[in-house]
Amino acid sequence: MPGKIAHENGHLRVPDDPLVAVLYGDGIGPEVVTTALKVVDKAVDRAYGGARRLHWREYSAGAEALRQEGDILPPTTLQAIREYGVALKGPMTTPVGQGYRSANVALRQQLDLYANVRPVRYFPGVPSPLLRPELLDVVIFRENTEDVYAGVEYAAGSKEAVQLIETVRGWGSNVREGSAVGLKPISEFASKRLIRRAIEYSLAKGRRKITLVHKGNIMKFTEGAFRNWGYELARELLGDRLATPEEADADHNPPPGKILVQDKIADAMFQDLIRRPQSHEVIVTTNLNGDYLSDAAAAQVGGLGMAPGANFGDGVAVFEAVHGSAPQYAGQDKVNPTSVILSGAMMLDYFGWPEAARLIENAVEETIMRKIVTYDLAGVMDNATLVSCSGFGKMVEDAMVRG
Ligand code: NAD
Repeated sequence: MPGKIAHENGHLRVPDDPLVAVLYGDGIGPEVVTTALKVVDKAVDRAYGGARRLHWREYSAGAEALRQEGDILPPTTLQAIREYGVALKGPMTTPVGQGYRSANVALRQQLDLYANVRPVRYFPGVPSPLLRPELLDVVIFRENTEDVYAGVEYAAGSKEAVQLIETVRGWGSNVREGSAVGLKPISEFASKRLIRRAIEYSLAKGRRKITLVHKGNIMKFTEGAFRNWGYELARELLGDRLATPEEADADHNPPPGKILVQDKIADAMFQDLIRRPQSHEVIVTTNLNGDYLSDAAAAQVGGLGMAPGANFGDGVAVFEAVHGSAPQYAGQDKVNPTSVILSGAMMLDYFGWPEAARLIENAVEETIMRKIVTYDLAGVMDNATLVSCSGFGKMVEDAMVRG
């Protein structure tokens, strides 16, 4: 009988045969997710010899759910993720500027998945525009529920926009008549619960440099407050273990036993990621900064097809690729499934099944080292063997069997 993940006193209890919701998504979603499920199953089987097994249960969301059930996020899907406490999901299309709202954003809001976590590191052999791509090894914690993504915006000329403009003009702020307007809420509550998670992660994983990224020089009361709340919480949680930038060495390593908390203005951070990636290990930031930064960081070490991600709430986690649904490649069995495969490995780590997670990472690394890759990497690699999406998955499975 499959079991459900439970949370007891803040600790995760994962049975040997957990139920996991799977959302295939649309566009390239179904092909990358199908490939990833096979790889994850194989890894669990190899690592635990049948003593542990995942029970995937399919639920719908996004464009497909809208067509079939008239809802981008059917209540049965939400209910299942809440009950199982975990889901693996493929990308979902969101129309730009019009049409239906984003199923991704709805999912994050409904389940209060407040921490979007995106590890970005280099896999040897992957072509990179950097001279020393191996120096980039960061985990980005991006706030998921606030900022300009919270969806509080009003169309130009709408009753709400007109009223809001009148109100702020009454307060002495100059907003051009006829503008569309959006709000950028940043709260102490949401900022601190994200930053707390990043500090706890750093302590658990032995990461010693935490960077608060913000645009507080310009947006003092929102982005600037995020930075200030970060330092405040760091002082409270780390006490004597908190290192200041003055105590750190040239590569920002703190003295032994201490954790450095530093901050960086967002535009300077983009430069640092390219010029001095070794100065950063854990990056904590607001929603929009985190969106841009994680795509840019992923591009430095092989592109969107490589970067995994997860969205955490309290007692619930949804693992997903960083990339979107790339509709132009849908149904061609062509794109790189690594992102969802590695998101699956993140999920296994979350379960406390690191043996299976490492099997996956090592097998992906070995396959890429052998230059067996999908089109996105084959086009920029010498003497590569081009494989399909499912073909790549099969090679990763074979590597696990050999290993
Ligand atoms: P995208 O990530 O889908 O594609 C951008 C480009 O990246 C593609 O053209 C392709 O060249 C490359 N790419 C992406 N995934 C790849 C893979 N697995 N292998 C190889 N190359 C890959 O971004 P987009 O075109 O801006 O967005 C398309 C749709 O996806 C939009 O509707 C957007 O809203 C949605 N989206 C969804 C999510 C999500 O579900 N979490 C995230 C981002 C975008």
